[in-house]
Amino acid sequence: MSAHVAVIGAGPGGYAAAFYAADLGMRVTLIDNEKNPGGVCLYRGCIPSKALLHVAKLLDESRHAKEWGIEFGEPKVDVDKLRDYKNRVVDKLTSGTGQVSKFRKVNYIQGWASIVDAKTIAVKKAAGGDETVSVDYIILALGSLPTRIPSLPIDSPRVLDSTGALDLPEVPTSMLVIGGGYIGLELGSVYAALGTKVSVVEMTPGLLPGADRDLVKFLAQRVEKTFDKVMVSTKVTSMKATDQHVVVNFEGDGAPKEATYDYVLVSIGRRPNAKIEGLEKTRVKVDAKGFIETDAQRRTAEPTIFAIGDVAGEPMLAHKASHEARVAVEAIEGQKAEFEPAAIPAVVFTDPEIAWAGLTEAEAERQGRKVEVAKFPWPASGRAIAIDRVDGMTKLVIDPETERVLGVGLAGSGAGELIAEGVVAIEMGMTASDLKLSIHPHPTLSETLMEAAEVFFGQATHVYKPKKKAN
Ligand code: FAD
Repeated sequence: MSAHVAVIGAGPGGYAAAFYAADLGMRVTLIDNEKNPGGVCLYRGCIPSKALLHVAKLLDESRHAKEWGIEFGEPKVDVDKLRDYKNRVVDKLTSGTGQVSKFRKVNYIQGWASIVDAKTIAVKKAAGGDETVSVDYIILALGSLPTRIPSLPIDSPRVLDSTGALDLPEVPTSMLVIGGGYIGLELGSVYAALGTKVSVVEMTPGLLPGADRDLVKFLAQRVEKTFDKVMVSTKVTSMKATDQHVVVNFEGDGAPKEATYDYVLVSIGRRPNAKIEGLEKTRVKVDAKGFIETDAQRRTAEPTIFAIGDVAGEPMLAHKASHEARVAVEAIEGQKAEFEPAAIPAVVFTDPEIAWAGLTEAEAERQGRKVEVAKFPWPASGRAIAIDRVDGMTKLVIDPETERVLGVGLAGSGAGELIAEGVVAIEMGMTASDLKLSIHPHPTLSETLMEAAEVFFGQATHVYKPKKKAN
């Protein structure tokens, strides 16, 4: 008899685990409170935000086209239609996951699960009634929730989290984004393109803390133009909401003492959602940050329970969740699978996009690790010039001894697509020479990866940067 696996939470971790387990011949029950599998990513995260960012890009390009001799009138935004478009995107994808779940004969239960013991779960079904499911294994894919500011408790329809902002209540005149991380910058870019005067406030000295500064520079320069105000090293000290506005007080150089906005979007990060009822009846451990502790196979301290995705640790990204899903399922099958990626890509889908994978230059510095960095500036790329997007850079972080590619960083239009090549290079242990010798199609932005490798050898066709001779 094949193993029966219950997966709780149907985000990109949970549904990937359920589908793979079914593909491997296991009996699978998948539980989530939404009508179809999708989780935060498909319903309230990655997908709806990218649908809106796609529209934002069109708006930005149509405005920019004036410089190429093509002039459009000022766009009229029908916010109801735009919201419908975004909802259609979500419906299409989630009804698709619902269908492939049925094809695989996954027992999908719409409801809220709690743990009875290490092999039993109880579900309060959305349609009413309770169901108890006895299984051999449980995979917890419970995801994460937006972090709130404890010192600023505010319950007002004018103070949004990312879910509220994606609901597009209207196109406001002004909005403050609290938090200069990727979610705040992506959603802020959408509203700015729609015509809102967007300001962003970030506590640390720069946007996108954690990313290499030379990459962030390109986005920071753009945001300085498209946003109303960018306030770094600044703290929000208080907020007061009325029916029409939110009055915000700041502390920081260059920030006003007080300013008024139509809406405030709080996006200061996400916290793991490990608070499932009954977890205390098992041996599962939760660490100080709220993540469920697992081993390299994603098994918890309770041998029949696994945890994957946002609830199981950083980085909280969909593709990391789906990869862990496969590891956990293979571990259940008895394989020697482990979660040991050399590179997990991170992409900020703003304009320009920022993407990186593997070792960053900042991390190498922190570790005191000696690396060589080769940078190819996009003003030297034919493709970047042709599409009028020279605001970018491709960089390689290279081990000087072995010449292996340890990290790749990109800033520029389409960086999120280009980073995949960097991931493959790092995972395959490619050297700068391998990358240099792989013929890339011309004229494409992908050539910038090959030419960055050429820069490392001081031989880039389009950049004159001779290699320093060793004494
Ligand atoms: P989730 O997708 O969070 O799903 C967990 C599911 O479990 C939820 O549906 C929840 O309701 C359900 N659940 C929890 N407890 C129970 C219970 N007791 N019973 C039943 N169901 C339960 N990541 C990217 O990689 N790329 C992006 O571009 C990107 N953009 C994002 C944009 C936004 C605005 C946000 C908010 C997030 C974004 N993310 C992005 C992050 C991404 O959404 C998460 O990393 C990903 O969804 C994590 O997947 P998961 O499977 O761990 O859980």
